[in-house]
Amino acid sequence: MERLQKVIAHAGIASRRKAEELILQGKVKVNGKVVTELGVKVSSQDKIEVNGIPVEREEPVYYLLYKPRGVISSVKDDKGRKVVTDFFKEVDKRIYPIGRLDYDTSGLLLLTNDGEFANLLMHPRYEIEKVYIAKVKGIPTREQLKQLEKGILLEDGMTAPAKVKMLSFDKRKQTAIIEVRIHEGRNRQVRRMFEAIGHRVMKLKRERYAFLDLKGLNPGEYRELSPHEVKQLR
Ligand code: URA
Repeated sequence: MERLQKVIAHAGIASRRKAEELILQGKVKVNGKVVTELGVKVSSQDKIEVNGIPVEREEPVYYLLYKPRGVISSVKDDKGRKVVTDFFKEVDKRIYPIGRLDYDTSGLLLLTNDGEFANLLMHPRYEIEKVYIAKVKGIPTREQLKQLEKGILLEDGMTAPAKVKMLSFDKRKQTAIIEVRIHEGRNRQVRRMFEAIGHRVMKLKRERYAFLDLKGLNPGEYRELSPHEVKQLR
């Protein structure tokens, strides 16, 4: 048995607090009857509706995928391109990615069917550290990398301080490999940060997400998170 607001939150419909409001507003039904008290417990057999829409309930699952390049971080694509859930054909749950990596970015991506968990991790306040390895055109100067560390002005505002480290460079090819650690997760953020200092990202990979890495996985492979890992992320 679980609390009604928890079940609603898990389904990704609302936060627990918002779910409580929905209950108090009389928008939630259990087995066809409106419930307006908090603290009601429901079993997996009970039918729950929010605003007349049935709440789909599934056992929560959590996966870590090594996303290859050339895959959309979505559950379907209008243009028929490969999507991240295509790697989970044998999983019969309705999972979706927690945040996204660009089509051309490879690396660590979490997927779940637990809406509350996904919302939590994507909330900016959560400030999960993500580590990216970028191959860029040209060799940025120390001053340019300092600028990225301090914060740089993008169209959507200043970026928060980052950690930036040159791992290697190739003078002849005029390319550099740079590690970037950020806590934000704006759209195309790393690519835009480098564009802002005049260096195009040629290749981008997310190596780490919080304490999780890609060890033991090849592109296109995934593993389940352990209950302990899920707990640590919460
Ligand atoms: N920053 C980017 O530019 N792209 C990603 O996919 C992730 C972070």
